[in-house]
Amino acid sequence: MSDKRDYYEILGVGRDADASELKRVYRKLALELHPDRNPGDADAERRFKEASEAYQVLSDPEKRGLYDRFGHDGPRGSGFGGGFANVGDIFSAFGDIFGDMFGGFGGFGGFGGRRGPARGADLRTGVDLTLAEVAQGADKQVKIRRRITCKACGGSGAAAGSGRERCQQCGGRGQVMHQQGFLMIQTTCPICRGEGTIVRKPCEACKGSGLVTSEESLQVSIPAGVEDGATLRLSGRGEAAPGGGQPGNLYVNLHIAADPRFERDGADLHTVVPLSFPQAALGATVTAPTIGGDIEVSVPPGTQPGDTVNLRGKGLPRLQGRGAGDLIVHLRLVVPRSLSPEQEQALRGFAAAGGDHVEPPGERGGFWRRKRK
Ligand SMILES: [Zn+2]
Ligand SMILES: [Zn+2]
Repeated sequence: MSDKRDYYEILGVGRDADASELKRVYRKLALELHPDRNPGDADAERRFKEASEAYQVLSDPEKRGLYDRFGHDGPRGSGFGGGFANVGDIFSAFGDIFGDMFGGFGGFGGFGGRRGPARGADLRTGVDLTLAEVAQGADKQVKIRRRITCKACGGSGAAAGSGRERCQQCGGRGQVMHQQGFLMIQTTCPICRGEGTIVRKPCEACKGSGLVTSEESLQVSIPAGVEDGATLRLSGRGEAAPGGGQPGNLYVNLHIAADPRFERDGADLHTVVPLSFPQAALGATVTAPTIGGDIEVSVPPGTQPGDTVNLRGKGLPRLQGRGAGDLIVHLRLVVPRSLSPEQEQALRGFAAAGGDHVEPPGERGGFWRRKRK
């Protein structure tokens, strides 16, 4: 097969690369080309298999020696199957490399092999929160449907009195070899699906799967200060795994309901309070909303449209527990749309007394300045 690329070239290493360099380079490539990260990308999958084949040969001193001397036909002469038929076999062959690479994040749960039992599936659910709950932190109940270990058989899947037996097909290895033309190809055993053992008399409660479906209500503690769209991970609260493997995780997505009084910016909150012209000119005490209830805010005389008052610590708590953000009160000057005769007369009096003089732009208090510090 002269159309095959050189294994060193595929991994992008020199011919003198040592074992640790090969491992590092392969891990990096596998991470980029990983099928979970490139769903439906046939080219990525092809390159993933290609890199895995190259690594399988070069990481084995004997196969590497044959490859160095005889090229691609070298390792094949020694019984090497020549590549991987499916991605699952790559994970079972190099499970230890992937294991710590994706530690705790799963995604390989479905791939069998005899590298320990499969991991249970992850579950997702959502929780709705109000801004007040974000301010305080909250304990919320979530209902989930998940598969848990069958109590009747303890998860073995075998009826009482019987047990799991060694799979005859693969002799307990979980893998079988096929001849395909001149090649020997290793795949997951179709009878035991890689577990190496089978059940002769299935447990009635779980039909031999070792798992039963359960509806549960879980209490989830939401820390104060969480962001909308954030996800909490509850380790081990996902689905149980058949054969006593690690359970999956439960991911709880947080939806925070909009509060029309506030605009959120991280731990800071913004709110708008209307101000009349006399209040702005003379100074006033106005009422502003906070998460904990309304408070009085004093506005100094000569307040300009768009001026803000910063209420330190009246925002939301910071997630890491370092104090709280601010509440920024935006003062919006409201001009009356209509005036009573008395109001009009009073305003005309104000104008006649020099009140309609406005300083030109560019000078102190001028027109282009939006905010006063
Ligand atoms: Zn059972
Ligand atoms: Zn088997």
